[in-house]
Amino acid sequence: MRKGYIEIDQVLCKGCQICMEFCPKTSISPADNLNAAGYLPASYNDESECTGCAICALVCPEVCIEVYRD
Ligand code: SF4
Ligand code: SF4
Repeated sequence: MRKGYIEIDQVLCKGCQICMEFCPKTSISPADNLNAAGYLPASYNDESECTGCAICALVCPEVCIEVYRD
């Protein structure tokens, strides 16, 4: 069951995929389209079982992930 969710700033994301490697629930994957800066940004899967653990936000070098707890 979902315990939290995140929002990823699509403009600031550089598509490094570090958040994807660290998320224990595989809640994040590459988006389908490039952002304005030409990067393939991270996309949050709304159907996933995010725990709100905030690991993704902690490892993101661009500090572009906000975490919310349900
Ligand atoms: S808060 Fe935790 S479970 Fe949710 S997307 Fe980030 S790393 Fe994954
Ligand atoms: S770690 Fe941050 S900059 Fe890298 S893909 Fe994830 S959200 Fe984007």
